Amino acid sequence: MKNLIFKLLAIMLCSISSHAQTINDLINKVNLDTLSLKVQEFSGEVSTVVNGNTVTVLNRQSNNNDLAAEYIKQQFSRLDNLTITDQVYSTNGRNIIATQLGKTNPNNIYVICAHYDSVANYCADDNASGTIAVLEIARILSTQCLDNTIIYALWDQEENGLIGSNYYAQQAANNGDNILGVLNIDMMAYDGDNDNDFDIDVRNIGGSLAMKDDIISVLNNPTYGFTLNVNVVNPGTTASDHSRFWNQGYSAVLVGEAWSNNDRTPFYHTSGDRFSTLNLPYYHELAKLIMGYMATKAGLINIDNSIAADATTITATQTEGSYQWYNCDNGQPISGANSRNYAPPTNGNYYVEVTLGGCSEVSDCYAFTTLGVETFSDGELNIFPNPVRNTLKIESANVSDLRINLFDLSGKLIRSETLQVQSNELNLKGLSAGIYLLNVKSLNKSKTFKIVKQ
Ligand SMILES: [Zn+2]
Repeated sequence: MKNLIFKLLAIMLCSISSHAQTINDLINKVNLDTLSLKVQEFSGEVSTVVNGNTVTVLNRQSNNNDLAAEYIKQQFSRLDNLTITDQVYSTNGRNIIATQLGKTNPNNIYVICAHYDSVANYCADDNASGTIAVLEIARILSTQCLDNTIIYALWDQEENGLIGSNYYAQQAANNGDNILGVLNIDMMAYDGDNDNDFDIDVRNIGGSLAMKDDIISVLNNPTYGFTLNVNVVNPGTTASDHSRFWNQGYSAVLVGEAWSNNDRTPFYHTSGDRFSTLNLPYYHELAKLIMGYMATKAGLINIDNSIAADATTITATQTEGSYQWYNCDNGQPISGANSRNYAPPTNGNYYVEVTLGGCSEVSDCYAFTTLGVETFSDGELNIFPNPVRNTLKIESANVSDLRINLFDLSGKLIRSETLQVQSNELNLKGLSAGIYLLNVKSLNKSKTFKIVKQ
């Protein structure tokens, strides 16, 4: 009966909950410490390591910003699922672009972008804030399988007349790229009066107004709990990179701090635009909102990576896709274990990798312990003498290949042996006197005996 209760408990405890990630999960991964550190690195407040050298990225003017470009490339190169393009379009012009190809509709493209060049030293708000937000969203979204393609683009020479974005937008239009939305971020971390207002600059071009509405629906979704207030600016400014996409008829908006309320950084285009002047909770909240919008448009492929188990079988919750079961202890795939259900031949730790649409996610490890819990019946094993002085005899009527584990009362393993024949002797000479626990195990049975050593 005790054994049965144990089994039932084990079965009840067996559902492991690590389901497919939701948009809310991704929003909550936007990390203020990461944003803060990288803005300080990218605006020269602290040193950083680029291509193995300790450097300070103090200035990002277009004739002097290769270090900044290398920093961005290095950040992208640490992420999965991205193809990096170093787009050198002139002597001083260099866009850095990372593409995450959609698994379902690769030709449906959403662009999230910011300019990384500056007009002076530091320029933390304009536009280290936008650049680092793009990198943070890439860090999080690149872990996911997406329906649509996301392009993370960091433009050069915005400050010289939107040159980098213009080059890209013209080329995209010439190629007929199916860009469905361009979200440009330019200055997003200043909120002097703490009113949490921000602007969306929009014009009635392509689907730009619908894009603005979609951002506002994410903002107003009670699941996410945003504390920001939106000002829609229509007709919005043409003085940043999104307008080059408007010129090509694409849907585009600018998201950033509230110029409409005159609540934008007073240090605009000066070397007074430094990290210490930023409003970090505001910056964090706005980055989370943009994360929510991008994840919504990207389309998270819903792979459920949870598993459940009963006494004999572990089952992947995901019903469609292909499966590969692994041994957690050595990380190796188990040959032939390719169905949704897996019945382990032995106790152990297992996980499954589920693949759907060219995209894989793995489950947590599951400790499978329900095999071999049947006990030996009386008379199947004979263990004597007990108490024992030197030699303990273990006789079994019809069982060979017994595994013997001897523990002290604290549970520490003292001795482990495999007995090959039906009658065996265990030499306990030298073991200090006291009480020990002897566990005897066959393929499907197990029993523990209390042994007194004299
Ligand atoms: Zn700017």
